[in-house]
Amino acid sequence: MDLKQYITIVEDWPKPGIRFKDITSLMDNGTAYKYATDKIVEYAKTVNAEVIVGPEARGFIIGCPVAYALELGFAPVRKEGKLPREVIKAEYGLEYGTDILTMHKDAIKPGQRVLITDDLLATGGTIGATINLVEQLGGIVVGCAFLIELTYLDGRKNLGGYDVTTLMQY
Ligand code: IMP
Repeated sequence: MDLKQYITIVEDWPKPGIRFKDITSLMDNGTAYKYATDKIVEYAKTVNAEVIVGPEARGFIIGCPVAYALELGFAPVRKEGKLPREVIKAEYGLEYGTDILTMHKDAIKPGQRVLITDDLLATGGTIGATINLVEQLGGIVVGCAFLIELTYLDGRKNLGGYDVTTLMQY
């Protein structure tokens, strides 16, 4: 299936010069959403994932159906101040300034094989911080799966030796 036909390119959003890849038009189509989910489920099986992790909010949209299909747990990564219990933190750089992502301290067990999911890989900053969180808890990042990769931003290179799979490239 050609998944790109379901991605809407929104010109100049959220600011001038950005060509935003909108995945909601893919989610709107049940067949395309299931196809994309199944592809990531297959990948999760090949890396023997034991738990799925994803950053808010679009990482949930990709990761939760994968966790459900494989009867695995899903551990959310959220912005600071959103998770109710004791958290660990990782800071990461944005275009202007920094942001903080958090995870519950007991979300991953040491040695667990973790698959990280998100909608889109750009510079890799978000997923770099997510990897940092998983590793602080002793998890083993066995793979990172995305619907979309913006290849010109070198996110894959920035993620170094981690296994990365993407369903669409721009
Ligand atoms: P990175 O941290 O630079 O890799 O940026 C990836 C994050 O930015 C992901 O969590 C995406 O949801 C978001 N993002 C950046 N550009 C786009 C886009 O064109 N469409 C959807 N999400 C985007």
